Amino acid sequence: MSANEQENNGQDNVLFSTQTVINDALDKLGYPEEVFELLKEPVRLMTVRIPVRMDDGAIKIFTGYRAQHNDAVGPTKGGVRFHPNVTETEVKALSIWMSLKAGIVDLPYGGGKGGIICDPRDMSFRELERLSRGYVRAISQIVGPTKDIPAPDVFTNSQIMAWMMDEYSRIREFDSPGFITGKPLVLGGSHGRESATAKGVTICIREAAKKKGINIEGARVVIQGFGNAGSFLAKFMYDAGAKVIGISDAYGGLHDPDGLDIDYLLDRRDSFGTVTKLFKDTITNQDLLELDCDILVPAAIENQITKHNAHDIKASIVVEAANGPTTIEATNILTERDILLVPDVLASAGGVTVSYFEWVQNNQGYYWTEEEVETKLEHVMVKAFNNILTTATNRKVNMRLAAYMVGVRKMAEASRFRGWI
Ligand code: GLU
Repeated sequence: MSANEQENNGQDNVLFSTQTVINDALDKLGYPEEVFELLKEPVRLMTVRIPVRMDDGAIKIFTGYRAQHNDAVGPTKGGVRFHPNVTETEVKALSIWMSLKAGIVDLPYGGGKGGIICDPRDMSFRELERLSRGYVRAISQIVGPTKDIPAPDVFTNSQIMAWMMDEYSRIREFDSPGFITGKPLVLGGSHGRESATAKGVTICIREAAKKKGINIEGARVVIQGFGNAGSFLAKFMYDAGAKVIGISDAYGGLHDPDGLDIDYLLDRRDSFGTVTKLFKDTITNQDLLELDCDILVPAAIENQITKHNAHDIKASIVVEAANGPTTIEATNILTERDILLVPDVLASAGGVTVSYFEWVQNNQGYYWTEEEVETKLEHVMVKAFNNILTTATNRKVNMRLAAYMVGVRKMAEASRFRGWI
């Protein structure tokens, strides 16, 4: 596929992009071609059809997926997204990214990912419950606390995790909190899980700002997306004294060069992260990305920074809180322009790190305080950031390729020791 087709191919090009960088990373590390052949696709992919009784009495059939990328290091792990644009290819790519994240923060996991094609914004509470339970029944044979551990992702939350955990426990006939992470605290969730992705991003921003000589206090920050990652991040940045001058949701963006009132916006936001509909004076998501600022955080969806707008990005640091927001070509343009790009597989790894902490706490039946979780997360993220920065400097590659080199190594080694390649 040419780069041009790749950029035009919407969602599906994310798999091609991640395969390209994995290939480059394995090349740099000196691995033979078979390793790429194994790692370029998930080892397992299940497609399920889920019949759900809707509130009006009709039956609707939903399509869902669960992809397990590589389980050489340990059980696979990763979220389940509920979104109308979910595709099989996207879920595959997302499972590969989870493997990389696990490698980067050194967790004993491989990557997995699930998705259901649906729009939870148009579904009732009970319909969502039936869909969540139906999905678990459909995939129950291939998941479990020592096989594959789901978690929240786009448009899924702790309530959905609770239903899924309950359904799985009923099927197995014993309580299985370690089956899924991102649960409510009373069902074995961990302190700090909900804000963990944003905490991890905040740590990366702080470390990247140090490197670029930017003071967080007073720094101008733009955040695309006001979902779980974007909204917590806006709060953390605002509380740290940064000026959050732009935020957006799926419908548009808000801009104030003097800084937005984040507490007010958080108060008005709905559970899907929608807030801009309440305002008349909005800008487009494209304009938002090109605002004059110091730090830009794409925290929404894939393919937002492309070769078409990469030349117009004004930030000196771009930190990817979303999965796959920047294309390969755009990564090269930003690197040439000396913009420090902290890649998704590093920046957003805080979520799965605290998910791992949750799973460990479930397995040992002994729970940590919020401070303990925070200290451990801080340690993991700083170590991962510095490891990748050092790799990038020593190997003279950009942060994305460095992150892939770090992320892929353990999985390749484990696959080799097991005699798979
Ligand atoms: N969905 C999150 C991610 O993409 C978290 C996954 C997890 O906690 O397992 O990293």
